[in-house]
Amino acid sequence: MSSGSLASKYQEFVERPLNAIHLGRSAWPLLHRFTLGYPENPTDQNKQKALQFIQSFSKIYPCKVCASDFQIKIKDHPPKLDSRNDLVIWMCEQHNFVNQKLGKEPFRCNVRRIELIHGGSHRKSDSWNIQ
Ligand SMILES: Cc1cc2nc3c(=O)[nH]c(=O)nc-3n(C[C@H](O)[C@H](O)[C@H](O)COP(=O)(O)OP(=O)(O)OC[C@H]3O[C@@H](n4cnc5c(N)ncnc54)[C@H](O)[C@@H]3O)c2cc1C
Repeated sequence: MSSGSLASKYQEFVERPLNAIHLGRSAWPLLHRFTLGYPENPTDQNKQKALQFIQSFSKIYPCKVCASDFQIKIKDHPPKLDSRNDLVIWMCEQHNFVNQKLGKEPFRCNVRRIELIHGGSHRKSDSWNIQ
């Protein structure tokens, strides 16, 4: 496909490139969903993989200021990896740090609530068993 026809196919993105707001609206559901799929009783390997994912995400997230602030928060408040509930709440708190920074109301961090909003039909993902 030529670059001209690609541009017309994805006209919306040519006119309105991803910014921090649109990017965040896509990224938070992924991050919360990731925590909802985390095992109730994680193995050491699960913990290591989750930590690697979060740390890598914070380094390559394509919004410079978001990424560098997220890295600082992760250092100050390291991911809580001992159980699914701990990690779900930890991510909710991370999201609240950003909400606070942007002058938004804090979200009430409750696992059931996060399951309802971000869980979709895959509340208990088996993805951690995939090798
Ligand atoms: C790691 C990261 C860092 C970011 N840093 C910045 C930044 O520095 N500057 C900037 O301008 N933008 C930043 N963003 C984007 C910002 O957080 C929002 O995504 C964006 O402003 C759009 O906000 P929104 O009001 O549409 O809802 P979002 O904040 O994107 O939230 C989406 C939905 O999640 C739910 N929700 C809200 N709070 C929580 C919570 N605490 N836990 C669970 N669910 C919740 C609500 O239902 C909400 O509608 C960052 C995004 C990420 C992923």
